Amino acid sequence: MNPGSLRNRLHYLLRMGPKSAKVYPQLIPKDHLNSRGGRVLTETGAAATRQTTGHSRSQRSDGTPVIEIDHVTKRFDDYIAVTDANFTIGAGEFFSMLGPSGCGKTTTLRMIAGFENPTSGAIRLEGVDVSRVPPHKRNVNTVFQHYALFPHMTVWDNVAYGPRSRKKSAGLDSAAVKKSVDEMIEVVRLTDFALRKPAQLSGGQQQRVALARALVNYPSALLLDEPLGALDLKLRHVMQFELKRIQRELGITFIYVTHDQEEALTMSDRIAVMNAGNVEQIGTPTEIYDRPASVFVAGFIGQANLWHGRQTGRANRDYVEVDVLGATLKARPGETAIEPGGQATLMVRPERVRVSMEQPTGDLAAVRSKVVDLTFQGPVLRLSLVAADGSPILAHVGTEQDLPLLRPGDEVFVCWSPDASLVLPAADIPTTQDLEEMLDASSDAR
Ligand code: ATP
Repeated sequence: MNPGSLRNRLHYLLRMGPKSAKVYPQLIPKDHLNSRGGRVLTETGAAATRQTTGHSRSQRSDGTPVIEIDHVTKRFDDYIAVTDANFTIGAGEFFSMLGPSGCGKTTTLRMIAGFENPTSGAIRLEGVDVSRVPPHKRNVNTVFQHYALFPHMTVWDNVAYGPRSRKKSAGLDSAAVKKSVDEMIEVVRLTDFALRKPAQLSGGQQQRVALARALVNYPSALLLDEPLGALDLKLRHVMQFELKRIQRELGITFIYVTHDQEEALTMSDRIAVMNAGNVEQIGTPTEIYDRPASVFVAGFIGQANLWHGRQTGRANRDYVEVDVLGATLKARPGETAIEPGGQATLMVRPERVRVSMEQPTGDLAAVRSKVVDLTFQGPVLRLSLVAADGSPILAHVGTEQDLPLLRPGDEVFVCWSPDASLVLPAADIPTTQDLEEMLDASSDAR
């Protein structure tokens, strides 16, 4: 991951401000906007919802989540693909399911869409159990990586296909269909391309058509399964912004499946990190990055120093003490309580590690170490070091740290504030090779 570009993009998204950025009043009646400016209800959407669930979408204002995954397990014969998933997704959320290949994220999405039935547990859509309701009767739409547009139809006709076929049942006339198709084509910024056929569009433009087509009927939630996987890296970055912008403008719940942690961190309000069929943690990108619940999450999201150690006891009210790297260091306790004397893993992100030539003073955790390798990457110097006990240490040093020219073999001190560390339950620590294999397998699976 390029930390510079991720930081820039996070900064850009934060600058976009709250979700109420822009809505299309002509598209959404006033009483159908939620308190954040996101859409709560449209005539077509409400009609479709009433048809399938017998309930009006306005129930969402009572705080009912859009989707409830209630202790859902999915078995394929003897194989358990998803184990007791139990979480909710709120109105207007951009929610991602993230994890390596085979962790069960697509199966969970397919159960929400109705393409698979849970073996046990229930899935509720706006408060109504839809576990056995077929896909076409659920008010959700899915966008896949391989978006099958109709090649012989124009962009406009592709987007109009759904509303036209539902025109009668939704009680719409041709003018209403035209208005909503024009507006959705404007939302995805394809107005100038409306009369082109798919073959005359770039990959990113085709993806926008697929989005407009899936959104034009205002589903309760849009499900996206690695939708940017077929695009090259540059276009993927552009489309990440576009997806987020469109989601904010429309206020529709997006449920996004990806194995790409950078993509999930950049776009999501909350992320569910999955591993081997289990949801390991659900939280905001910041929570997941700063306070991972497990060694797996810490290793899968961003880069992390992870060291085996032993928690010896409490240092004071806020910190515990951990024997690690051949020293006793003050550290921030994690969510899982560890008995005094118990095995533990200490995590410190590389960008929180400082390097100094002299022994640091004050309340810092400090360890003597030796430089093994250095890579200069413009704003960041990546240092590989080794502690006295042989453990590897990674430090990403910014230009604000005034260091002399370092060479392999130089003796330095690495240090960090105890707040920059986190004590996690003991677990096998993934090697760089393990992580690369995990990511390669995910890429191959696409
Ligand atoms: P990927 O990113 O590779 O798509 P994923 O996290 O989305 O991975 P799933 O597609 O949900 O993973 O699959 C989870 C596990 O369930 C995998 O081991 C997969 O082989 C298995 N699985 C999925 N669908 C079926 C099926 N229809 N029959 C048997 N096993 C299945």
